[in-house]
Amino acid sequence: MRLKNVPGSREAIAESDFVVHEPEKIKGSWKALFDNQNPLHIEIGMGKGKFIYEMARRNPEINYIGIEKYSSVLLRAVQKMEEEPLVNLKFIRMDAEDITDVFAENEVDKIYLNFSDPWPKDRHAKRRLPSKEFLARYDQLLVKDGFLEFKTDNRGLFDFAVEQLPEAGWRAEKITYDLHHDEEMVRGNVMTEYEEKFSSMGNPICKYIIFR
Ligand code: SAM
Repeated sequence: MRLKNVPGSREAIAESDFVVHEPEKIKGSWKALFDNQNPLHIEIGMGKGKFIYEMARRNPEINYIGIEKYSSVLLRAVQKMEEEPLVNLKFIRMDAEDITDVFAENEVDKIYLNFSDPWPKDRHAKRRLPSKEFLARYDQLLVKDGFLEFKTDNRGLFDFAVEQLPEAGWRAEKITYDLHHDEEMVRGNVMTEYEEKFSSMGNPICKYIIFR
């Protein structure tokens, strides 16, 4: 995502009640933060939050956390929450590299990755959110029977993600290379901002659902 620095975004994020500040302190207590026993689903690299906001709106019995590295992007999600707040959605501004500092073992019921940055150079492969290095981190926080869902229009990144699975000890429950024409997998699909943009250009969307 090309980023414009939005003046004041850092301050606005730092002051927002929709953002969890010092999330390491909540590690192991996310249910208490939401004040219920509902499952916890997270999206890593949520961008402006279109997907996770809609998921939270449709599923009030699930708690959602959106994670985004940049304040200037996260700001848009915070502004949406200011207009129409949802009690089951919170945001964290952080680099997902440190995600195991924030969630305890078995604390997360589902992980979403949507249109993750491709990091095309081989030497940056470890930074890709569906890499085996990141899968090892997700392993540490996802419940035993938990699933991870990943969507992208980037075929190179998707092939890489699929190749990582055996080495990382994960298995595919379902895979499609054309989500919008897959009658079963597209049911209930919530489009992300990038998904709307790239599918309107005619790009097929790849998706997998994986588990350990
Ligand atoms: N998921 C959104 C969508 O589908 O419309 C946004 C996709 S955008 C290409 C990728 C987003 O992931 C960017 O906003 C970027 O800042 C964020 N991101 C990339 N690496 C990240 C990381 N390590 N931790 C947190 N966010 C990250």
